[in-house]
Amino acid sequence: MRRFQPNEEGYYGLFGGAYIPEMLFPNIEELRLRYQAIVGDAEFQREFETLLRHYVGRPTPLYQATRLSEVHRATIYLKREDLCHTGAHKVNNTIGQILLARRLGKSKIIAETGAGQHGVATATVCALMGLECTIYMGQLDMERQRPNVERMKILGATVVPATSGNMTLKDATNEAMRHWINHPRDTHYIIGSVVGPHPYPDMVARFQSVISQEIRAQLTEQQGNPFPDYVVACVGGGSNAAGAFYHFLDEPHVHLIGAEAAGHGVESGESAATTALGRPGVLHGSKTLLMQTPDGQVIEPYSISAGLDYPGIGPLHAHLFESGRGQFLNATDEEAMKAGIELARLEGIIPAIETAHALAVLHQLEFSPDDVVVVNLSGRGDKDLETYIRWGRY
Ligand SMILES: *Cc1c(COP(=O)(O)O)cnc(C)c1O
Repeated sequence: MRRFQPNEEGYYGLFGGAYIPEMLFPNIEELRLRYQAIVGDAEFQREFETLLRHYVGRPTPLYQATRLSEVHRATIYLKREDLCHTGAHKVNNTIGQILLARRLGKSKIIAETGAGQHGVATATVCALMGLECTIYMGQLDMERQRPNVERMKILGATVVPATSGNMTLKDATNEAMRHWINHPRDTHYIIGSVVGPHPYPDMVARFQSVISQEIRAQLTEQQGNPFPDYVVACVGGGSNAAGAFYHFLDEPHVHLIGAEAAGHGVESGESAATTALGRPGVLHGSKTLLMQTPDGQVIEPYSISAGLDYPGIGPLHAHLFESGRGQFLNATDEEAMKAGIELARLEGIIPAIETAHALAVLHQLEFSPDDVVVVNLSGRGDKDLETYIRWGRY
């Protein structure tokens, strides 16, 4: 048992660990030594649950999607993370981490962001708690994601452009790390997915695990049995998938399906299908699968959805893939956009384009009529309206 929990050093099988510059060691070590006791404390849990309930709006509904079920000839439930405050699951994690930061005595928060979604979720909880917030974002991403930059500023955050390298997520991450090394005592770094050095992947997975905890209770109530046959979620870094899988990891009869972004096609050179293309390597402080050239340079990923545009996956997912516990499929931009519009027409829900990849892979699975399938609806499509409009075929 506990095959899918990390060991002391943060390894899930071959993957994980903490590959960090020596200068960062004290920060990571402080977290590693203290996070389990803090998060396990009853008062922490009470405060976390209260905020999830009254601020985020949990439990989110588990909705039986009748018309979508007819299309796929199985019973399909949608776990409505799109109804969380700020429009996606990311806030579950930032609420947890801000409470942790307070208990660590930190007064300042930093984070990196690519598309801006994690930056907005972080700026939101900093405003809620009155903590100073600095978000690092590649200068190119700032130009591409103007509305999220303005959202962060409205919420009172300082957005610092990263001007090195490609001026995207990787460069923002480097700048945030550098800042943290120089301000270890008063600053906490909120990472936005189940990636980064141990203990981040485990910490983020635990905060997101509220998703599968609720699914179990809601399935028990709605169908008299806590177990679905399938749980399907999209995978960028893998936090919404980790949360949706978490309480089913040790239930081998529940199929766990990750949906990655194939972009213009897995073999097109413009993709983010990490398990299909990746090899083991070190990215953002942990050993995992990542897309790289034969000599180990990280390959620039591509996806129409900014949240899946990441060259790696979290170490838990690399382990689920290698061990065969999880199955990883992928969907192209085209397949995802069609699936997003299909959901809008069948159920009156416009999903985030990240989420649309999870809906698209339903077409690749062969269900029996009595199968119960839960799709984690990670986010709403409001932020993607421009992309839907440019796509145009609806
Ligand atoms: C950020 C984001 C994702 C991808 O991140 P994960 O850590 O893989 O969950 C997926 N869906 C939405 C709506 C997002 O905002």
